[in-house]
Amino acid sequence: MPAKYHIKIRPEPPRHKPIGKYCIIDWREDCSSCHNCVKRECAYSVYNDERDRLQHVAEDYVEYLYECKGCLCCVQSCTKGLLTQRVNPEYLAMGDDVWNADIISGTWFQAETGKIPVSGAGYPGPFRGPGFDSILTDMSEIVRPTRDGIHGREYISTHIDVGRKPMKLEFNADGSLKTDFPTQVEIPLPVIFNMMPWHSPSANVSQSILDAANELGTFAITDDPMLAANDAAMPHISKDAKGDPAISRLAQWDDCPDVMEKIKAAKAANPSLVAIVRLPLESIDRAVDLVKAGVDGLHAYADWEGVAGNGKHISIAVRDLHHALIAQGIRDQVTLFASGGISLAEHVIKTLLCGADAVCVDVPLLIALECRVCKNCRQGIKCPIGLENVDHDYAVHRIVNLMGAWHSQMLEMMGAMGIREARRLRGEAGRAMFFDDLERDCFAPVFGKRVEVK
Ligand code: SF4
Ligand code: SF4
Ligand code: SF4
Repeated sequence: MPAKYHIKIRPEPPRHKPIGKYCIIDWREDCSSCHNCVKRECAYSVYNDERDRLQHVAEDYVEYLYECKGCLCCVQSCTKGLLTQRVNPEYLAMGDDVWNADIISGTWFQAETGKIPVSGAGYPGPFRGPGFDSILTDMSEIVRPTRDGIHGREYISTHIDVGRKPMKLEFNADGSLKTDFPTQVEIPLPVIFNMMPWHSPSANVSQSILDAANELGTFAITDDPMLAANDAAMPHISKDAKGDPAISRLAQWDDCPDVMEKIKAAKAANPSLVAIVRLPLESIDRAVDLVKAGVDGLHAYADWEGVAGNGKHISIAVRDLHHALIAQGIRDQVTLFASGGISLAEHVIKTLLCGADAVCVDVPLLIALECRVCKNCRQGIKCPIGLENVDHDYAVHRIVNLMGAWHSQMLEMMGAMGIREARRLRGEAGRAMFFDDLERDCFAPVFGKRVEVK
């Protein structure tokens, strides 16, 4: 059995005070000054800190107000009912509908600690929503428990193989292998790092992303020829021929009419190269043609909010592409990467269940470096967190921590689904329930069709 893949996490505190969610409003004029004030019982010492900060008039007092964890203990226990919880309006204003405040702050926590975010107050949200939230995973097949669980001796592999696979093996008369086996690149996570969707980050951020990929044993797509020598570099060759695949193990081309000729020329110079073609998720006919023409892999992309060019969510568009390749009998030949709108560890698993072999992740890497998804940089406005000036080691640690937390969550989900191999997740729709299908096939015949109330 190969050595267990382990991501070494280490705490990496933020450079800026995170924007907190909750605060407690305190009406002091009616306070009875009871001896056992509930404020002393705050498990997070928020009120002790308040006293200290008030005494020292700290500059960050306003930010401190939102350190409350929202457990509601003090609100419920105050003998005079003086305390009220409120949500920070600055928190609510962060991000947008897809990259919302909870995703951003959860990603900050994971990048800081490398740990899975846990809510002590239970799950307060709805049980279905749009996009990935309309997919439920079947957690009824728990992997045989051992004394030290799935993070101990139990072996659950998140490795995948990237490259073209032969559909059959042929042998010579002497028993030796006749089939010319194409190059495979094994990566320990079904995740590679994508280029950023709205602008190229500064040179030190790009270098940090590559070095984090290197530490994790995965790859980062880059169109900067200066970074091609990095072991983790996966050069991106666009129409204007940026990127240099001469010394890389993996490279990606933007789709174009003569892309297979370009790949052939690159492989003549670098025979062990694994070539991926990047194309829109909805270009199913073109994807089929490329696989029949011998491409090693496809990177099918949606936009950064997870919407394909035909308006479908990435989860549905990946299923369409996966099923089209199956219908042609060619699915097993290629590696399929999918990208766009993947913001949580569960989205990785769900995208694989829909039919991808792996995902390309982009915006979460910036959020790990404290990005607030304010999009100022798209308009040339100053970045509130000075992303371009991040320290290299800080950035590498935060990205590795985020992937460490995602890896732990993948193990948890795979363990609960009874799947020991990430390779087996691909298209394993038997472990997923799609709410729209359930509603159509199970609920509608009994309760009637859903009527949207406006
Ligand atoms: S428990 Fe409420 S009323 Fe009593 S001292 Fe604390 S804040 Fe005041
Ligand atoms: S709600 Fe909980 S975390 Fe917040 S101040 Fe009160 S006791 Fe502390
Ligand atoms: S300006 Fe800075 S914080 Fe805002 S989206 Fe761009 S990188 Fe993120």
